[in-house]
Amino acid sequence: MSPTESPLPVEAVPDAALLTVRGLRKSFGDHEVLKSIDLDVRRGEVVTLIGPSGSGKTTVLRCLNGLEVPDAGVAEFAGQLTVDFSTPMAKKQVYGLRDRSAMVFQHYNLFPHKTVLENVIEGPVQVQKRPKAEAVQEARDLLARVGLAGKENSYPFELSGGQQQRVGIVRALALRPQLLLFDEPTSALDPELVGEVLAVIKELAEEGWTMVVVTHELAFARQVADEVIFMDGGVVVERGHPDTVLRNPREERTRQFVDRLL
Ligand code: ADP
Repeated sequence: MSPTESPLPVEAVPDAALLTVRGLRKSFGDHEVLKSIDLDVRRGEVVTLIGPSGSGKTTVLRCLNGLEVPDAGVAEFAGQLTVDFSTPMAKKQVYGLRDRSAMVFQHYNLFPHKTVLENVIEGPVQVQKRPKAEAVQEARDLLARVGLAGKENSYPFELSGGQQQRVGIVRALALRPQLLLFDEPTSALDPELVGEVLAVIKELAEEGWTMVVVTHELAFARQVADEVIFMDGGVVVERGHPDTVLRNPREERTRQFVDRLL
């Protein structure tokens, strides 16, 4: 299912802003983890976040998905929703962000006691109240698309890590989000399983899905990303086209990081 087939009102306006974030701040106790982050994601664009462990990448995604409530900043989603995180209303408004995006987690986060199919239809049926028959059909189609036809009744422990993560991706797609958020989707996988998951993400990018991807896979970022953002210590150190940030960065900190990984 490509994003334009989604029943959600996605206008097919190339280069139109889908998500604009300004001045995002988040502290845990007295540790300021995000120190004013700006982000612009246009429809159909792939933005990758890279940077050392602890630099705040996952926290950015969790804020975008409403899993954390930032302390300050403004997020505007496709001109339909503006959340000012410094106001008391923000705690409720973050549910609007959650409705519009879907997250793929590093450790898949599948329900271990539910089958693959049950995992995928949980959100559409229980949260979105969509008809079960429709959700099941869509889940089957999506599972087939990522090479998991016949696995509907398997339990997560019966699958490889790569298969589990493909279920995680299908579960996100089944929510029909406008924005996909990937939090180090391959870093828990054995090396030989990384490729099959990256291939699915690449295909989704080619179909026009809008996504923000936290990753250490710099070769993947170079192939797929429209913009690479290098974070360190809760700030954006450098952002730009992958060829610049990954091959010819302006900042010394970026160079040291990419030289270690490439
Ligand atoms: P990254 O994804 O770049 O590795 P994270 O966003 O996971 O970075 O974490 C950034 C910093 O925030 C780390 O120092 C981490 O320990 C801290 N942190 C993240 N979540 C929490 C939390 N729920 N409570 C306290 N500290 C947290």
